[in-house]
Amino acid sequence: MTTTPFPAATILGYPRIGPRRELKRAVEAYWSGAIPAEELEATAASLRIDGYARLAELGLGAQDWSIPASFSYYDQVLDTLAAAGAVPDRFTGLGPDLDLDGYFTLARGDAEHQPLEMTKWFDTNYHYLVPEIGPETAFSAQPARLLEQVRQAKEAGFAARPALIGPVTFLALSKPAAGSPADFHPLDRLEDLLPVYRELLRALSAEGAAWVQLDESALAADHPQRDDAALAALAQDAYQRLSQGSGEDVPGIFVATAYGRLEAALPALLGTGIGALSLDLVKGARQLERLRGLDLGGTRIAAGVVDGHNVWRTDLDRALETLSGLRDTLGADVTVATSTSLLHVPYTLDVEDDLPAEVVPWLAFAEEKVREVTALSGALRAGRASQAQAFDAAASALQARHDSPLRRREDVRRRTEALGEQDYRRTPAGQRRAAQRERLGLPALPTTTIGSYPQTKEVRRARADYAAGTLDRAGYEARMQEEIRSVIALQTELGLDVLVHGEPERNDMVQYFAEHLDGFAVTRFGWVQSYGSRCTRPPILFGDVARPEPITVPWARYAQSLTDKPVKGMLTGPVTILAWSFVRDDQPLETSATHIALALRDEVADLETAGIGIVQVDEPALRELLPLRRADQPAYLDWSVRAFRVATAGAADATQIHTHLCYSEFGEVIGAIDGLDADVTSIEAARSRMEILEDISASGFTRGIGPGVYDIHSPRVPSAEEIAELLGAALAHVPAEALWVNPDCGLKTRGYAEVTEALANLRQATERVRATL
Ligand code: GLN
Ligand code: ZN
Repeated sequence: MTTTPFPAATILGYPRIGPRRELKRAVEAYWSGAIPAEELEATAASLRIDGYARLAELGLGAQDWSIPASFSYYDQVLDTLAAAGAVPDRFTGLGPDLDLDGYFTLARGDAEHQPLEMTKWFDTNYHYLVPEIGPETAFSAQPARLLEQVRQAKEAGFAARPALIGPVTFLALSKPAAGSPADFHPLDRLEDLLPVYRELLRALSAEGAAWVQLDESALAADHPQRDDAALAALAQDAYQRLSQGSGEDVPGIFVATAYGRLEAALPALLGTGIGALSLDLVKGARQLERLRGLDLGGTRIAAGVVDGHNVWRTDLDRALETLSGLRDTLGADVTVATSTSLLHVPYTLDVEDDLPAEVVPWLAFAEEKVREVTALSGALRAGRASQAQAFDAAASALQARHDSPLRRREDVRRRTEALGEQDYRRTPAGQRRAAQRERLGLPALPTTTIGSYPQTKEVRRARADYAAGTLDRAGYEARMQEEIRSVIALQTELGLDVLVHGEPERNDMVQYFAEHLDGFAVTRFGWVQSYGSRCTRPPILFGDVARPEPITVPWARYAQSLTDKPVKGMLTGPVTILAWSFVRDDQPLETSATHIALALRDEVADLETAGIGIVQVDEPALRELLPLRRADQPAYLDWSVRAFRVATAGAADATQIHTHLCYSEFGEVIGAIDGLDADVTSIEAARSRMEILEDISASGFTRGIGPGVYDIHSPRVPSAEEIAELLGAALAHVPAEALWVNPDCGLKTRGYAEVTEALANLRQATERVRATL
């Protein structure tokens, strides 16, 4: 057993982009050739050391392994891939020991290589790179980078705990390399990977690391291919083997789990010899009950009571009660921890000078959360009185939040309560179809786009100038109208059937709505990493949501005034707005969704009054919020579908409601798509060459559907032949009356030259296919 005790307080990870996004800037400068590798490495090293120093200042121990070394140039899954030498075979000439350029090639691709695929990290808005593991993928321990970080920290006076993705989660999140046998899953390679982890652990121990963190959050989620008990059994076996010799030639092993609750893995991990295990007691609060009577087998529990995935100030008194209750039940000391890495929240509230003053004390970002962790740890050991200041401040902020009129709008509550079945229901789809056909008079295979057009430098500048106050409202509006005029002219020239205004006024499809709705606050510097060097600034939902005035109506009305063709109104749906915001923790998500939906319902009504006959409500994040445990999914799908219906069901029969979903893997949500009761649904389909339509038509879907025929993720322009072929493939599954023609997604990241050519080809292909009907 390990000899160095596990720390009394810790966090699972810390933001790494830099308080002023220094890492983002340095990495991008390196990519563009503006700075050499040494400069990037020096920036990264000083960010790491400054980060440790700050954490020590905030109360974590500099010498007790409570500070995680959770830095990454791009992504922690990629770092683990690099440490395990698991470079996919298709990256010929690279690895197993990746240098910085090789590392970035895996992340970003180059002329010869497509990058690794990127996908969502559990139920967060962080995206990781998906390792590709086949039956023959070579593994080898490549500890150099990890060792360098331990050494650097040591030299600066910090015992920083190395953190890696654990072997079970690493393989559970990997996908089979191309050409793997159909029944192969990367988890089949666990046996081969464990010796590599053993070697990494030994190397870290030799460098002086007393503890190592292995993230195993896959154990808190249902896996698509393995049942929970099977995954737990794999983990049990793996950790029995990895922890042999802990404290001798390998460090103590801290298994960190987050984002949900362990089921079978909870008893399975205890008794394997791991030194510590963290549990997410925010999302997985029911684990508390299960700990009663379990034999810890010498493993110390790290209780994740401070929410790492949201921005609310912790109720310290309640958390302390939980912690001391847990200590009593277990008859053992516990560590105070965050529920997840703090990667998901901004650095600090200190720099925010523009948040509503009343709301600020309700919040805690990363730095404030570290202080909460250390205050709780102090109080758990020396009593509340020893931390009276922190506890009293938290209690009075919480009381103020509880009592605040900012949080409640009685009109919104009354309206929510008064919702009845009729508010969720439109007349049957068939009846609506007739009314819409008469009103819109569209040709077969109507052509349209998903909403945004390229966001040029000029458009961005105008928005920035307006925000900074150097462009006045009239000037800004004139500039946006000019953009709308040119986008409408382009679509008219291209001969598209359903036009859009192009969304030039939107910085982001969620932030834009948050800025225009009561109940949301937006930060100035609250950046969090989304992937690689990409950061977003999620809005904060703190109160009941209301719409002080129409949001999109003036732009839509203006666009419609320029053409006789129908202009499609463009809204972001309630689930997506929630998914990309920090949400309230003082009421069910479902209630917040309904509030947003009611505001959108009014927006739909105002669009109708303004003469808009088609309204699209985007829900690209519908699948994103899907709970990690299958048992929790039906309830989620039920409320998320109902929220969409609240937003849209007030529309007249003759108003056509569209929705857009940004992906092509539907799995568990396929039934829900029909439940949305939208008249037309557009989805991504070009990359999968329409395969998805098979499942959709098999599910009995009979509504309008627009499978994307143009992959907008790449600058490549599809030819008319290619698009016509895709439409032919689509017609094998979908009747012509139901088929729409559109790109995969919005065009905002593309350039005008390629977009114009691609849409001209889209139009031409459609003409050709129409002639064959
Ligand atoms: N209407 C949005 C756009 O075109 C949809 C974006 C999305 O689905 N992510 O940009
Ligand atoms: Zn999309």
